[in-house]
Formats: sequence, C-alpha cells, structure tokens
Amino acid sequence: MSDFRYLIIGGGMTADAAARAIREADPSGSIGIISTESNPPYARPPLSKALWKGESEDAIWKHTETAGVELRLSRRVTAIDPQKKTVTDDRHNAVSYDKLLLATGGTPRRLPLQTDQIIYYRTYDDYRRLRALADQKLKFLVLGGGFIGSEVAAALRMTGRDVTMLIPEDGIGARVFPADLSHFLVDYYREQGVDVRTGEGLATLTPSAGKVVVKTTKGNEIPVDVIVAGLGILPNVDIAEQAGVRAENGIIVDELLRTNVPDVYAAGDVAYFYNPQLGTRMRVEHEDNANSMGAAAGRSMAGKGESYTHLPFFYSDLFQLGYEAVGELDPRLEIESEWKEPFREGVVYYLKDGRVRGVLLWNTWGQVDNARSLIGKTGHLVAG
Ligand SMILES: Cc1cc2nc3c(=O)[nH]c(=O)nc-3n(C[C@H](O)[C@H](O)[C@H](O)COP(=O)(O)OP(=O)(O)OC[C@H]3O[C@@H](n4cnc5c(N)ncnc54)[C@H](O)[C@@H]3O)c2cc1C
Repeated sequence: MSDFRYLIIGGGMTADAAARAIREADPSGSIGIISTESNPPYARPPLSKALWKGESEDAIWKHTETAGVELRLSRRVTAIDPQKKTVTDDRHNAVSYDKLLLATGGTPRRLPLQTDQIIYYRTYDDYRRLRALADQKLKFLVLGGGFIGSEVAAALRMTGRDVTMLIPEDGIGARVFPADLSHFLVDYYREQGVDVRTGEGLATLTPSAGKVVVKTTKGNEIPVDVIVAGLGILPNVDIAEQAGVRAENGIIVDELLRTNVPDVYAAGDVAYFYNPQLGTRMRVEHEDNANSMGAAAGRSMAGKGESYTHLPFFYSDLFQLGYEAVGELDPRLEIESEWKEPFREGVVYYLKDGRVRGVLLWNTWGQVDNARSLIGKTGHLVAG
C-alpha cells in the first residue's frame, strides 16, 4: 500500500486548496504534503499588505492539518520516480503515492551577485526578517516596480521608513499598466515620500561602514541598510522535468490539470494551462488562481474533476489606491481608459482586434464577474 493515496509537493496556497478539495471528495483517502518551508501553508498576499496595516499574523494561517493532512515540513523533494510512484526527499526518504500533485510554485529571480544582503521577498520568513529590520530606523532600497516591489515599497513607507525604489523600466507596474497610469504612479509614490528612480537598475553592491553602497546602472551611488528585491519568479519545474513531465513556461497541464505523466497533476503558480476564454495557454501567479486551480486539481485527483475553465482575477493595493483585474493586462495591446476621476477611479480595457483581452478595475469594486464576462467580446462595462 502507498504511504499516501494523495501526495502534494509544495506547501503553499495551492497545496492547501487541493488538500481541502480532496478531503471533500474523498473523506478517508490519506493526504500528505511535503514542503521545503518550515511553516505550514499560509496566505502570501498579507505579507506585503495587511500585516503592515495592523492585521494579526494569526489571520494568515490556513490550518491545512484540520483537513486531516499529514504535513512533512522543512524537506525538499529531490526526485520523482513515476514508474515506482515514489518521491524522494533531501533526507533520503522515499514516499509512495497513488496520485501526485506538483504545487511547487516559483522561486524569486535573483541577481548574479554573491550576497545575502538582498531579501528576495516571497515567504513568511522573509516577512519576519524585513519586519524586524523595519522596526529600526534604517534606509531601504526596493528593487523592481512590479507587484512585489510596489507593494513592499508602499508597506515600508507606510511604517515611516526611508525608501528608494530602483526600477529598470520607466514607470511603476510598467509591464501591466498603460504608460500614462504607470507614470502617474511614479508621481503618486513620490508624493508619498518614496524616492522613485526609473530607468535605473542595480549594477554593483559594496559594503561600506556598516551600510551597503549600491551603484546604479546610471552610475549613481546610494548608501542603504537593507535591499529588498521583487524581480518576479521562475516556476519550479526542475524535479518535474527530470521525471519526464513536460514543461515550457511552467508545467503543461490539460483541462483536468493532468500532466503528460500518468497520475501526476500540477496547479497554481507552476502550472501552464489553457484558458478557453482567452484561447491561449497561460501561467498565472495570483491568489485566485492558486485557490481555484488547487481545488480543481484536488477534485480531479479524487476522480471528481471537471474542466478547469476559470479565468482568475487578481488584485493589489498601492497606498490608498487599489485594483482588481482579469485577463491579459499587456500594455502593448490596444488600450481604452474610462476614468471617472483620472488615475483615481476608472476602468481600463485591453483589446486586440476590438475584442476585450483584459480589464483593469482601478479603485472600482464589485465588478470582477462583469469584467470577466466581457473577455473575448466587444462591449464595455456600464459601471454600477
Ligand atoms: C508577498 C506576496 C504578495 C502577494 N500578493 C498577491 C496579491 O495581492 N494578489 C494576488 O492575487 N496574488 C498575490 N500574490 C501571489 C500569490 O500569493 C501566489 O500566486 C500564490 O501564493 C501561489 O501559490 P502556490 O502554492 O502555487 O505557489 P507557492 O506559494 O510558491 O508555493 C510553492 C510551495 O512549494 C514548495 N516547494 C517548491 N519546490 C519544492 C520541492 N522540491 N519540495 C518541496 N517543496 C517545494 C515551496 O517551498 C512552497 O511552499 C502574492 C505573493 C507574494 C509572495
């Protein structure tokens, strides 16, 4: 008999959602989770938002064990043997499964610098480290103006810290927002007291007098105490690929979230799935996708699957501004903006050949389902 009827590699939000859905579909099948993290599954979004606004840390824990799940923490799966249906961890334990879920998420992209002075922000441990530093009056440098960089910079500034942002692109969120909104955000962050430098990246780091001197690609020198990086993630596909699981931009799954290897499934940030509404494969690094695809994979593993056709939404908070969005937010698409108040409240449409590919609901709430129903169509929202 196998050690686990259902085995999940990864201890993130996808793993939690999958475990719960399995338990609902199969009240007695054994479920195991193996995770490199020392903490049980928790919600990541509060690490750069709510926890900095006073939410209690108690609120982040998923309590996955209450679904009758055995958690094996602080261990990394190093190999999968799909013939024997076993995985091996870094303590040389072999664990057998009937159904295996790869929920391995992603690893932050790193700079080619040998230093432990950069916090590549992803985990609860990263939050704890940054929080302890933020309690001291130190000078912070945030690398990157994407989701993580913009949220962490806002979080640090809201605690009154001195923050510089170094952004290689020419605006905040430049890869998702149209140029005018991205430039507005630079001004907005500056108004909030963040020293935003655009078109400028990190070239070298030199320790000096208890600080680190950052030399930028423009030749400027900035002495700082702490560097936090948000440079995106790379999907963790290595152990899958070594086992013959096909991956491109993530692990390729079919509509039931099965990989090409029998009884091996994938979901969450690591999965490269087909969305029929957009008519394309995509990999989504957001909470709604982790929760809904994790649950769908769990049902599928338990023999109660249905096609995963959900188009996930995502959201973020930037000081007092916030948004929800669905679909493809690519500023290279045709853009139509409808502002109630410029850059403060409105809706941005991303279109191709006149059809909506993505909708950004900027400080506009309660419209996600309506926005989703517009994808692939020609209409606009009549904002309620
Ligand atoms: C700070 C932060 C803020 C965010 N804010 C938002 C937000 O506002 N809105 C939003 O929609 N999304 C947000 N996200 C994204 C969202 O949290 C992710 O999409 C989601 O957490 C992905 O979950 P996952 O379980 O698929 O992957 P991950 O969270 O990456 O989990 C993967 C797990 O697998 C483990 N693992 C990897 N390889 C192995 C191995 N070989 N053996 C064992 N274990 C392994 C890892 O340790 C980890 O526990 C945020 C993310 C972060 C980091």
